[in-house]
Amino acid sequence: MKLILIAPSGGGKGSLADLIVKDYNIPNISTGDILREHRKNGTELGKIADKYINDGILVPDNVMIDIIKDRIAKKDCNNGYILDGFPRTLNQAVALTDAGIKIDSVVELDVAENLIVERLAGRWTCEGKECGFNWNERFEGFTADSCATCKSPIFQREDDKPEAIRKRLANYSNNSRAILDYYKDQGTLFSVTVTPDFMPKDTYKVVDKHFTKLGFKKK
Ligand code: AMP
Repeated sequence: MKLILIAPSGGGKGSLADLIVKDYNIPNISTGDILREHRKNGTELGKIADKYINDGILVPDNVMIDIIKDRIAKKDCNNGYILDGFPRTLNQAVALTDAGIKIDSVVELDVAENLIVERLAGRWTCEGKECGFNWNERFEGFTADSCATCKSPIFQREDDKPEAIRKRLANYSNNSRAILDYYKDQGTLFSVTVTPDFMPKDTYKVVDKHFTKLGFKKK
């Protein structure tokens, strides 16, 4: 079961992915998380990514395509995976197809821009290596001092500042149309309109119903 989640940053991809991982037992591959890990460890790749991420612009396609090919060749991807944050450009989508990778379903979360800004302003990430949960101040159980699940410290991301958010949203609307059309033509696109009252579990309910229709089996 090979999935792609497409949504603007802050659109709820990460939270949806967490719920899919639990039920379907496939890894979630977040290119944003991979890049942040490299930056934290000060690797060469991390240094390249630094300037792009801080400015809220995309890391070059060739770098990202190599990262993803490497990652999905790992053993834990044998039964499938979720791609969260990849592809971000049409080039990246075509590169997947050219590599012979057949995606079973592409889920788009269609979220209004003002809702995104509101959500990003309230986003806190858990520092815990095993946990790394993306909290939002509006989630049940949120506590401001530490992660309510694992008690690690929580932090707000640098690129969740208003100027970087605006650039990321502009990037998203510039690039996403072509990607969505590409998968629509392939017949794999499933779009969910996310309204302000939607919590992650509500989005998941809609998506999971679709997966059942496609014949995906839970593990
Ligand atoms: P995210 O956590 O998905 O919002 O990603 C954070 C940042 O990492 C983005 O704003 C980009 O600068 C970079 N990034 C993540 N995934 C990609 C990708 N597939 N292509 C290019 N840049 C990416």
